Amino acid sequence: MSKILIIDDSRLITQFGKSILTGKGHEVLTADSGEIGLELALRDHPDLILLDVILPGMDGYQICEQLKKTDQSQDIPVIMLTSKAEPADKIKGLVLGAVDYVTKPFDAGELIARVNTHLQIKELYEALQERNRQLQELANRDGLTNLFNHRFFHEHLSREIDRVRRYGGTITCVIADIDFFKKVNDTYGHQTGDSILKEVALILQKGIRESDLAARYGGEEFALVLLQSESLAAQLICERIRSHIAATPFKIANPPLHITASFGVASFPSAEIKEEKDLVEAADQALYQAKKGGRNRVVLFSPDV
Ligand code: GH3
Ligand code: MG
Ligand code: MG
Repeated sequence: MSKILIIDDSRLITQFGKSILTGKGHEVLTADSGEIGLELALRDHPDLILLDVILPGMDGYQICEQLKKTDQSQDIPVIMLTSKAEPADKIKGLVLGAVDYVTKPFDAGELIARVNTHLQIKELYEALQERNRQLQELANRDGLTNLFNHRFFHEHLSREIDRVRRYGGTITCVIADIDFFKKVNDTYGHQTGDSILKEVALILQKGIRESDLAARYGGEEFALVLLQSESLAAQLICERIRSHIAATPFKIANPPLHITASFGVASFPSAEIKEEKDLVEAADQALYQAKKGGRNRVVLFSPDV
């Protein structure tokens, strides 16, 4: 069942249309002026609109233009209701964004056929949009861990840096790397390694806020983008995640396996960090210090080291 809005100042037309379309199982709303029609279109989100050309107040063309200009209504297909005497009008409606027209007085069969065609097209269009959204989502994700991938991480980071440049605030980048992961693979096999990567990804995801982002940077390296976090606050978040990983028994092996990870943390903006490249390099440098200092630790970037 679809919801159809008929905008026509002739009660005869709205009632006739309504009886035909409700007979086909549709829900029908009616409006006897363009202004009321616009209001209903925005409030009730009909699936399709039948729109008379000649109306008191705003005419059908103005209404159509308005519907197509407004975000919430621009995807609703509009079929113009024209009278036989106005041939040029048909083209004008199509130019303004209507998908079709029906000539009054209309034939029930024709009205149903045209309405159904455009409802079907709308449904297919919506399914296509949903599919595109899903594909886009897949393209942004890492296949193993389902975290965001390397490409999306960089896109996101540069977007957020732009935002901080414009509106102020702080953004923190974290690069985390599992310690001695090669040994895990060598001892327990690659599949066990994969399972651990997935579990670590979950711990990272759970350890950050909804507005933050966790990505697989590559191999056994992960990246976090923490918004609105000063570096000291970010360091605490990482410390919590670090100890969570270190305390987790990975039951994929018997007896359960324990691993640790090292974290490098850097924030933008700072005296040394002026762009995205600096930020990632600084986090990487801090990670290197964490490894050098003995692993299983969080190190905040410091330009002097
Ligand atoms: P370090 O503490 O210095 O980081 O030592 P490490 O052994 O973790 O570092 P190294 O860079 O020597 O080795 C990384 C290992 O991660 C080697 C590689 O086989 C493994 N690895 C990378 N990607 C994957 C993956 O997708 N699945 C599995 N199972 N292992 C991976
Ligand atoms: Mg490693
Ligand atoms: Mg590594």
